[in-house]
Amino acid sequence: MAAALAAFLIFPVPETHIMSGSALFETFARAPLAFDRGEGSWLITEDGQRYLDFAGGIAVNSLGHGHPKLVAALTEQAGKLWHTSNLYQIPGQTRLAERLVANSFADKVFFTNSGAEALECAIKTARRYHYVNGRPERFRTITFEGAFHGRTLATIAAGGQQKYLEGYGPKVEGFDQVAFDDIDAAERAITHETAAILLEPVQGEGGVRDFPAQSLRRLRELCDEHGLLLIFDEVQCGVGRTGKLFAHEWAGVAPDLMAIAKGIGGGFPMGACLATDEAAAGMTPGVHGTTFGGNPLAMAVGNAVLDVVLEEGFLDDISRKGLLMKQGLAAIADEFPEIIEGTRGTGLLLGLKCKAPNAKVAAALRDQKLLSVPAGENVLRLLPPLTVTDAEIREALARIRAGAKSLAPAAANAAT
Ligand SMILES: *Cc1c(COP(=O)(O)O)cnc(C)c1O
Repeated sequence: MAAALAAFLIFPVPETHIMSGSALFETFARAPLAFDRGEGSWLITEDGQRYLDFAGGIAVNSLGHGHPKLVAALTEQAGKLWHTSNLYQIPGQTRLAERLVANSFADKVFFTNSGAEALECAIKTARRYHYVNGRPERFRTITFEGAFHGRTLATIAAGGQQKYLEGYGPKVEGFDQVAFDDIDAAERAITHETAAILLEPVQGEGGVRDFPAQSLRRLRELCDEHGLLLIFDEVQCGVGRTGKLFAHEWAGVAPDLMAIAKGIGGGFPMGACLATDEAAAGMTPGVHGTTFGGNPLAMAVGNAVLDVVLEEGFLDDISRKGLLMKQGLAAIADEFPEIIEGTRGTGLLLGLKCKAPNAKVAAALRDQKLLSVPAGENVLRLLPPLTVTDAEIREALARIRAGAKSLAPAAANAAT
């Protein structure tokens, strides 16, 4: 303590640090807003101001805030058992894995705490697959521009975005990137060292950009032809977000490996890597592990999320609500073309392609007490809870219209 004080006296803290007044890393440009509690689609500040939450913790709060089934599942498990490690059987884990397998292409599941870890597992699993099949030279993964796969050293290399790679030393070896949706370029990028092709069926951070169904089918064919594994990153677009349990179902194309996270935990940190039996062939005892992944608390919540998402009619209703929302957004874009160029997305993974800077549009919507998330390509993402009501969608549309109007040129304002 004395040494720290002495250091402080000798090296005064720069004024900017005193002004930020925070003991946190400065890695996030946070809005000047803190929330005290949540109710369904709403976030509420300590002084009672209510915000319509169409950011959803970046597609994480899939069932909104304080969903009674999730609260019950978590509190019941919290009273019984929190953590045992993967040295023992975890019944909730077995059950969630069996349910994910029953509802997907997969045969096997590995649970993680985050999306990036689920991707790490997928990338490692692909490399091990070739290793145990006598092709250890196959370790490279082809990815697409605009991708986001997480912030670990391997996943920033996979994502290939310079702004996330800069200053972190040599990029992790083994990732080759081609232009978005350039399937010919992906084919040309295949070498004797290629292990896998990795992509988000719908790029989230990249600006709500989806790969056409035909591209996904061609990638599947390429992988089959060359003996590569196809990896889908559904961390953002999975678990009902697009109106199917997994976004790739729209194209009828199954991967060999898939990462999920965000929505499956409904706000509890968790992720998973799903694999076919064949793809998981190299993942034998001891080759991979995790302390926290698949912990009983996370599994209780994950199972409760699936209970709701798999209810009869739930996914179809997401599609219906998405359409309702998208039609309303298109009308707003028509009315304020100098602010909003158009709409993107499927289900409740929606984007406004902005003409005004997206951060400015986000701030204008925040002034209307509606939360959204900026993305690449000057897109603003709208990610309401999958449980959002029609009335809340109409309320959101009214607020988005008011926000757009507040940014519209004075002449347009005078005319309306
Ligand atoms: C958020 C996200 C990740 C990373 O997930 P973390 O939990 O932040 O590690 C990876 N891929 C996609 C598509 C994402 O949206």
